[in-house]
Amino acid sequence: MKKCLKCGIRTNIYIPQHRLALCPEHYINWFEARTQRTIEEFKMFQKTDRILVAVSGGKDSLSLWNVLVKLGYEADGLHINLGISEYSEISEIKTRNFAQRIGRKLHIVDLGRDFGRTIPQIKENERRPPCSFCGTLKRYYMNLYAREYGYNVLATAHNLDDEVSVLMLNTLSWNIEYLSRQFPVLPEENGFARKVKPFCKMSEKEAAMYAVLAQIDYIEDECPFAEGSTTLHYKKLISQLEEKSPGTKLRFYSEFLSKMYPVIKDRRPKTSINRCKSCGEPTQSEICMICRMRNNLLYGKLQTSTDKADNP
Ligand code: SF4
Ligand SMILES: [Zn+2]
Ligand SMILES: [Zn+2]
Repeated sequence: MKKCLKCGIRTNIYIPQHRLALCPEHYINWFEARTQRTIEEFKMFQKTDRILVAVSGGKDSLSLWNVLVKLGYEADGLHINLGISEYSEISEIKTRNFAQRIGRKLHIVDLGRDFGRTIPQIKENERRPPCSFCGTLKRYYMNLYAREYGYNVLATAHNLDDEVSVLMLNTLSWNIEYLSRQFPVLPEENGFARKVKPFCKMSEKEAAMYAVLAQIDYIEDECPFAEGSTTLHYKKLISQLEEKSPGTKLRFYSEFLSKMYPVIKDRRPKTSINRCKSCGEPTQSEICMICRMRNNLLYGKLQTSTDKADNP
């Protein structure tokens, strides 16, 4: 057993990539302070901003909401019930209970009610994998709620493992367009709210540890559609690298941000944004992706895999 670096009591909490042993109380303080440093490092937002946090009911998103509120930020939640049977029912209950616990407003989108179809129902008509159209729907509702309710910042709980798996995927295919967008802050533009990822430097294990120590009641099950996704495969590979050489993930990501991102950030293609003729949301086409999906579902046509998502 090691000793807490701050108070000296014996602890089995050890963070290898930082060579840091901390007791539960000091781990919570460290995690929150590190999130605050990340917010400042990337100038994500300030106390005067109104933040909408995307909360799924899982450990990362509830932890993020908890940390932001504890740090004194004006952060409300947005939960999207995807209609994925028991998984979605439990996720919504956990999120509602958590909102009550921290005393913050929670907005809820019910896909079955608000879009007219749940994820499993859309899957029947779609060629794309569920995570692809699910992501499009989530981005659409996040932007819509941010604008309708006056939030200028959208926060998601993407952690270091999420960022590194996408970075690896995009690097292996040298997808410069996607790499040029992979920054933890995307500014408000073209009618889309500013997007931030305050957990971008916290690993999945660190976030899970925080959730347990802060006694956050989250849904432990993963979405049933997560299994088999490409990023999950990369996460497993990266974990193996990390095990052999602690700190690899953080180094790969941090070095990308400081050395590579400045070189390619201006390669981001300039797109002209219109208003969707059907719903008025920003889109690169005449009709936005969501309205096209809705029409396709109504008329029973299949979505083509070449359609581009609208939102960055
Ligand atoms: S795993 Fe895929 S389908 Fe499930 S919530 Fe995430 S993006 Fe949606
Ligand atoms: Zn301590
Ligand atoms: Zn539309």
